[in-house]
Amino acid sequence: MAFDLAATLTPGLAQRKQQQLYRTRKRVDSAQGVALQCDGRPLLSFCSNDYLGLANHPALVKAMHNGVERFGVGSGASHLICGHSHAHHALEEALAAFTQRPRALLFSSGYMANLGVVNALATRQQTIHTDRLNHASLIDAVRLSDATLRRYPHNDVEVLETRLNREDRSHPFIITDGLFSMDGDIAPLPQLVESANRHNALLMVDDAHGIGVLGKEGRGTIEHYGLDHGDVPILVGTLGKAFGTFGAFVAGSDELIETLIQKARTYIYTTALPPAIAHATLTSLELIKTEAWRREQLQTLVKQFRSGAQQLGLRLAPSTTPIQPLLIGDAGEAMRISQQLQQQGILISAIRPPTVPDNTARLRITFSANHSAQHIEQLLSALDSIIKHNAR
Ligand SMILES: *Cc1c(COP(=O)(O)O)cnc(C)c1O
Repeated sequence: MAFDLAATLTPGLAQRKQQQLYRTRKRVDSAQGVALQCDGRPLLSFCSNDYLGLANHPALVKAMHNGVERFGVGSGASHLICGHSHAHHALEEALAAFTQRPRALLFSSGYMANLGVVNALATRQQTIHTDRLNHASLIDAVRLSDATLRRYPHNDVEVLETRLNREDRSHPFIITDGLFSMDGDIAPLPQLVESANRHNALLMVDDAHGIGVLGKEGRGTIEHYGLDHGDVPILVGTLGKAFGTFGAFVAGSDELIETLIQKARTYIYTTALPPAIAHATLTSLELIKTEAWRREQLQTLVKQFRSGAQQLGLRLAPSTTPIQPLLIGDAGEAMRISQQLQQQGILISAIRPPTVPDNTARLRITFSANHSAQHIEQLLSALDSIIKHNAR
């Protein structure tokens, strides 16, 4: 008899359901934006990473059309065979200039960029120190490598420093998210840079959520702190969030990029992004550079939301960014509130373990430059009525 795969999987699925950890998908029938058509009904969305509201921007849609007309749809091969198009190259040069670094290299996703960089650089003799709340792709990147993984408590440079003081192995590697995806707080980069310099350690920042959003010119967490390439030699940015398209990049020295081209397996052994996406991303980059009002609008929305939420007595996280989680704790309770919000026409997904630590389930509220003051009012009034209702 054939192996009964279904029967072996059933108990695990049932257990997930029972623990309120079962994951399902909603079907979005409209283009991405703050107003979604979702499972057949309109919802006001506060959960995308399209922070600047570019995913369906007319200029990007037009650039994508033009890119498809010029370059076709598929890239046909990996970058090293014959898939590296003029559009990819132009975007790499533009991203290098934007991040004020000698070179940039495109990857097909942020997940793959992280796996590729860490595995191209890390050695068996190294310890990699990562923040406990770093993104899953960074954890997986280190697990896949020959290096030893050590996770320090969230943003705790003192603990990291103690460990680095005791370190007797060859140059340590420190990796942190720039802007933390599920908490909305910003890594203490100046202190991490000092620590890295004191211990001859290599510092890498994954700025998936910061790039385009933080800094006056949108150059992310590094600009936010007035730091530069000399302070943080390896920068990873993603294009599927604030840029509104898809893919990712690594920016740094010529030697770093050449090493990645030689050695990063997730770069070498995968098909290049569709060139039209790279072409459209050039337009995102122009909007990011020229339309600072999008970042200013986000700041205005954050202030409005936080002062309103404080008046309602909601449990806010210490975040000044467009990621504003409401801590709930219990996974089932977070699911319930998310469903109640949906009944009121508002889409906010509940984020549960293992994406976040046990007992820290939350509603991850995110803002887009396309949200208005009136949208925030709507959100606050829905949260107010649900929380009052649940308290009864
Ligand atoms: C989203 C994200 C990634 C993965 O990027 P993709 O392009 O979506 O694969 C990596 N790191 C962080 C911190 C992220 O938030």
